[in-house]
Amino acid sequence: MEPPEPAPDVDVLVVGAGITGIYQLYRALEEGFTACLLEAGDGVGGTWYWNRYPGAQFDSESYTYGYLFSKELYDDWEWHEHFAHQPEIERYLNHVVDRFDLRRHIRFDALVTAAVYDESSGTWAVVATDGTELRTRFLIAATGVLSVPHFPDVPGREDFRGEQHHTGLWPNTPVDFAGKRVAVIGTGSSGVQIIPVIAAEVAELTVYQRTANWCTPLNNAPITPGQQARLRAEFEGMREVLNTSQSGFLHPPHDRAAFDDSKEERRAFFEKMWNSPGFSKLTSNYTDLLFDGAANAEWCSFVAEKIRGIVEDPEIAEQLIPEDHRFGEHRPPFVTGYFETYNRPNVSLVDLRETPILRMTETGIETANGLRELDVIVWATGFDFGTGALRRMGIRGRDSIALEDHWADGPTTFLGVQTTGFPNFFFPGGPHAAAGNNPRYNGDQVDFVTNTLVHVRDHGYDTIEVEPDAEMRWTSMVDKWATMPPSFGEKSYYFGSNIPGKPRRYLLNAGGRPKLFKEVARVRDNDYEAFRLSRSP
Ligand SMILES: Cc1cc2nc3c(=O)[nH]c(=O)nc-3n(C[C@H](O)[C@H](O)[C@H](O)COP(=O)(O)OP(=O)(O)OC[C@H]3O[C@@H](n4cnc5c(N)ncnc54)[C@H](O)[C@@H]3O)c2cc1C
Repeated sequence: MEPPEPAPDVDVLVVGAGITGIYQLYRALEEGFTACLLEAGDGVGGTWYWNRYPGAQFDSESYTYGYLFSKELYDDWEWHEHFAHQPEIERYLNHVVDRFDLRRHIRFDALVTAAVYDESSGTWAVVATDGTELRTRFLIAATGVLSVPHFPDVPGREDFRGEQHHTGLWPNTPVDFAGKRVAVIGTGSSGVQIIPVIAAEVAELTVYQRTANWCTPLNNAPITPGQQARLRAEFEGMREVLNTSQSGFLHPPHDRAAFDDSKEERRAFFEKMWNSPGFSKLTSNYTDLLFDGAANAEWCSFVAEKIRGIVEDPEIAEQLIPEDHRFGEHRPPFVTGYFETYNRPNVSLVDLRETPILRMTETGIETANGLRELDVIVWATGFDFGTGALRRMGIRGRDSIALEDHWADGPTTFLGVQTTGFPNFFFPGGPHAAAGNNPRYNGDQVDFVTNTLVHVRDHGYDTIEVEPDAEMRWTSMVDKWATMPPSFGEKSYYFGSNIPGKPRRYLLNAGGRPKLFKEVARVRDNDYEAFRLSRSP
């Protein structure tokens, strides 16, 4: 007689307690599945749990980032700033977890190190560092695209005897900067947030910059009582816009191209953009900003002029103006008082293209210009974007194929949620997912995954696996899109280019939400023909 097949302990196992995983857990329970969530950290929040560095905050408007699935939740939470800071965001996500009684389904300090598919039963055996060993029917990795901090390979990094912290692994007790000699390495989105906040506190701040970025003002402000009232009154309209817009923001698209306007009109419009909130410089700017090099150059020269107007030392100003990429080619950082920081006498800038770091010593950082002694080093050097967490989870699918081998040339996916050879495994919010306001995309994917699981269950199936031609169709669309305007090449981390040896392959959702919606509708209308559904023997 055949030995009995191992029975799953849960229907759905979610990995990761960020904004995506929390919603996935909620939706799975709501649909009547038994579910459990494993999280490596000892609290919820994902990005907003790990990135607790001074100045960490939203670049998306708070009320457009938060959940929209419950009007009651929306009504009982009041954001204080248009772009909330990390403590408020972490509080919000904890509030959501408690409000919907999700915490009892979450195990913390549980880093998943192995997840192995068992073909005979169509289940996954999952192992985590807290001793968890669980068998699940469906495995859903909501492990984030920016959740594995990256340290550049600098000789002697372990030798430094002072304190060093990565912005994405920040301690949850305050770091004391007062009177210290501090270095910040990296001027991407995190670096430019922390630099102005700590500059006044430290004795000396040295900024090590490899790539100057096109930083523009965030233009944050407290939400006034009048605005709060409007946000309450206009919830349904706002939700409609956010649930359907191309990039998941409220910002209305512009209707003119750059050279439809006269020079004077263009200048006035750019001034308006400069003073507009967050990502609207990208989403509400001229329609050809990302498609026409000349239009992009006009905006860049306007921003460069602004930088020259703020930074008093002309040499430093020039160093802060990007020369190697156009606006939008890298993820644009948004700032508050960033350029002004370089006017402080205790702040200096080291251009790593001119003087690269040679090594770290016990006391500081050495470049060709000598050793700079330091007390604290802040690594604002980014993440292994897109696939970092998934490649480190010990995932093995059919025939024991490891996910990292299956994706040796970069990820192949269908809708950014499934890949062939890994039945009953989904990864909402992973590669090929986002291209805008993240929770809106990731939420769309969670809804799709949940509806798919319901379809599988209600039709009496046990396993679901994407068909190779559906995966090829979606992946080719992404790869093809990545070579066309508005893509500018492979320099940004969107292509994995910050990680040595990583295949250069586009990691975002290329077609934006409209493509995702279209394909989701096609799956539904064609009775899930993009997937192979089967029953256990
Ligand atoms: C500093 C910063 C600011 C940002 N600002 C914005 C913004 O303003 N707007 C925007 O749209 N996006 C922003 N992002 C992107 C942000 O990552 C997403 O908005 C969102 O937080 C992603 O949520 P998530 O749940 O998919 O992933 P995450 O929030 O990254 O959560 C993933 C979780 O999975 C856990 N995990 C990973 N691997 C394992 C494992 N093997 N076992 C167990 N647990 C595991 C991690 O510990 C983490 O808690 C920002 C990112 C950073 C780093």
